[in-house]
Amino acid sequence: MKPIAIRAKRVMTPLVEIADSVVLIEDGKIISVGRRNAVELPPGIQEYDARAWTIAPGFVDIHIHGAGGHDVMEADTEGLRHIAETVARFGTTAYVATTVTASPDDTCRSLESLARATKLGRADAVSETPAAELLGIHFEGPFISHARRGVHPPKWIAAPADGGLFNRMLVSSDGEARILTMAPELPGALELVERAREAGMVVSMGHTNATYEEAMAAIARGASHATHVFNAMRPFSHRGTGVLGAVLTRPEVTAEIIADGIHVDKAAIQILVSAKGNDRLILVTDAIAATAMPDGNYRLGTFEVSVSGGVCRDSEGRLAGSTLTLDRAVRLMVELGVPAIEAVRMATLQPARRLGIETRKGLLAVGADADLLFLDDSLHVHGVMTRRMREPQTET
Ligand SMILES: [Zn+2]
Repeated sequence: MKPIAIRAKRVMTPLVEIADSVVLIEDGKIISVGRRNAVELPPGIQEYDARAWTIAPGFVDIHIHGAGGHDVMEADTEGLRHIAETVARFGTTAYVATTVTASPDDTCRSLESLARATKLGRADAVSETPAAELLGIHFEGPFISHARRGVHPPKWIAAPADGGLFNRMLVSSDGEARILTMAPELPGALELVERAREAGMVVSMGHTNATYEEAMAAIARGASHATHVFNAMRPFSHRGTGVLGAVLTRPEVTAEIIADGIHVDKAAIQILVSAKGNDRLILVTDAIAATAMPDGNYRLGTFEVSVSGGVCRDSEGRLAGSTLTLDRAVRLMVELGVPAIEAVRMATLQPARRLGIETRKGLLAVGADADLLFLDDSLHVHGVMTRRMREPQTET
């Protein structure tokens, strides 16, 4: 592909902001980024004028179940492509497909097809439309707490001591397993933490009723993340702080939040921002098939949920994922007083760092993938470019 140059009003790398800037792209990679007058343009290079917009890296969503009518667990190649294109419209250019608790056979079948799709997604085929890259798999369950299961089907919740199942899941994932959400208080959980770490996974505490001590024991073994903090967790009390006490005070633990204004009250989000700082907080959607779709009934994993007013619940009225998109989550953080560049970081660089891929994703720097967003001053998405495209697609 020929190199192109894109001029912008501003770039948020998002470590710094650069006004009157230019991004140079060749073969899907950024080859230069900086102030317009500091970057030398190769002669004859094709220049795109995006001076109406701020360019930021594409969002990275590490907890997403589906979108556009499809769930990652049932999706075939066509369904996954539809999910990838749907979330890209809202600025997400890379994601970790998240499974829910299901039967071992259903789970492993899904893992096999997601692993295949992840490998295919790394290929360099040219694409006309923005589509998010599949980065691998997040196992949300089955090694979770019955008491904090949320909508996960109790029938298929498994004990970590059942090591055979985890091994089977790893084999089905064929090296593409990235994150394990688990409950540290279960028998055999600490050994599971170690085995997941050895497999290169990020171990996340979630759907858990752990006490402070139980959470700290898991952190000592290598748990370093917390899944949709406050949701599906033992509540905080000043004399029994529980897993939240550990998550809020241990700097090595990063925290996910579903910032849709429904899952967590705004004051609780602010508490999390104060405790974790902007660099240890990761915005996720926990989005399900109903995202960017009308209200109705949708599948989540292997069960059905109903969506009304954009809020997803199971038949017992429990919250069942969301219809959130990361652009909205970023704007909510700004509404809560977080500076725009830091809110953008929570949806780009922080999740990329969490996965250890920050040289490739979540950052506008030389050598990184050309996944770009074109944002207005209120952080609405007006254009997206993903690395396989020849040119950006922006509104005019
Ligand atoms: Zn989830």
